[in-house]
Amino acid sequence: MKYVSTRGAAPDLNFEEAMLTGLARDGGLYVPESWPQMSTDEIAALAGLSYEEVAFRVMRPFIGDTFTDAEFRDIIARAYASFGHAARVPLSQLDPNLFLMELHHGPTLAFKDVAMQLIGQMFQVALARRGQRVTIVGATSGDTGSAAIEAFRGLDAVDVFILFPDGRVSDVQRRQMTTPSEANVHALAVKGDFDDCQARLKDMFNDFAFRDAVGLAGVNSINWARVLAQVVYYFTAAVSLGAPHRKVSFTVPTGNFGDIFAGYVAKRMGLPIDRLVIATNRNDILHRTLETGRYQTEGVTPSISPSMDIQVSSNFERLLFDLYDREGAAVDQLMSDLKNGGSFALSQGAVDRLREEFDSGRADEDETRATITRVRQTTGQIVCPHTAVGIKVAADRRGDPSVPMVVLATAHAAKFPDAVEAATGLRPALPPRMADLFDRPERVTQVDNDLAALQATIREGRRA
Ligand SMILES: *Cc1c(COP(=O)(O)O)cnc(C)c1O
Repeated sequence: MKYVSTRGAAPDLNFEEAMLTGLARDGGLYVPESWPQMSTDEIAALAGLSYEEVAFRVMRPFIGDTFTDAEFRDIIARAYASFGHAARVPLSQLDPNLFLMELHHGPTLAFKDVAMQLIGQMFQVALARRGQRVTIVGATSGDTGSAAIEAFRGLDAVDVFILFPDGRVSDVQRRQMTTPSEANVHALAVKGDFDDCQARLKDMFNDFAFRDAVGLAGVNSINWARVLAQVVYYFTAAVSLGAPHRKVSFTVPTGNFGDIFAGYVAKRMGLPIDRLVIATNRNDILHRTLETGRYQTEGVTPSISPSMDIQVSSNFERLLFDLYDREGAAVDQLMSDLKNGGSFALSQGAVDRLREEFDSGRADEDETRATITRVRQTTGQIVCPHTAVGIKVAADRRGDPSVPMVVLATAHAAKFPDAVEAATGLRPALPPRMADLFDRPERVTQVDNDLAALQATIREGRRA
């Protein structure tokens, strides 16, 4: 399988190269040159298999000869052994035809573990074979950083540095980053906000001398391997509910468009998905794009579902590539309009296709809180604010009532205890396996919002 850039001007890569590179050199994102197909019989044969076996069968066509079958099975087994549920990604039920896909049974209680645990293991095998070491640097508003640290802690070939805004992540999120004791884990509290962290990260990638000296690598959500890992659970959920003999719909709380793009990939591969619904909070750029045909950035407004407080949805570029018949030059033009003027207009053909594939809705803060309250009253379940956004939008966009609707539950309620307590009066408890999180010693380096200071900290902090 070859990977091509969405902007058409970077070299084609194989899976391993695309995974280790992240962003293409022309500024684009890597996508497979075509979508592998799974037949109705192959999908039917997934029924009753373990999550790991489904993961192997769904992802195998994408990885080419990067890993042998035995290596790949081993990678998958190690990735999901850390999950606190035998089904890995179980379903639960909210009403007769509405289901939750619980993506929060990984070590940091958010869905990013599903992909990050897998790519930690894939990096380790690929780097060991190359005799190479890398320095992973990431910026986080909370969930991505803790998932990356959990995935890479203790791995020989990797040092991981996470920049987070000092004082602006929740206590649970901070402790998940500062309590791992392995020498290759480095939590950096930056005196600034999330945008500062992201800007300094970008500066580091643009400093080619530094980039080469430390072997800089990125694992943010534009990494193709992360999207690929997320395709798997659309298959496990749909097959549990009767696919391929029955259609299933999904509603996805969306920020960077990675998770829902994985659903689109599953559909392209042959999974009979009826509707794919984009659910946004008050930062509703994607919902507005479906309504108006114009992708128009506005300022980010903080919300109680902070992991979706995003203004530029990076992975949307991958969809644009398909909407424009895989013409890199057309995508390049849109992205330059966005960079120069803060917006772009979709062609009529692209808007029509977008609306054929997706539906969308938004939930404001009051609606999100009311949904948490209502779900607690009607089912006894306590959901996180991101999941509540999805449930609210799913209720509005239900479509054919005979088709099961699955809402992706992207985080555990205990990760966002303040918002949940405000809505229900109950403070959600951490699962038993991390009940001692607040007793573990913290280890963190405070750094100024300054490129040279951050680079020095990283150079000196790496293991030789
Ligand atoms: C990252 C995240 C999202 C958004 O996912 P995208 O792939 O960026 O669309 C939603 N909910 C939670 C809890 C997250 O951590």
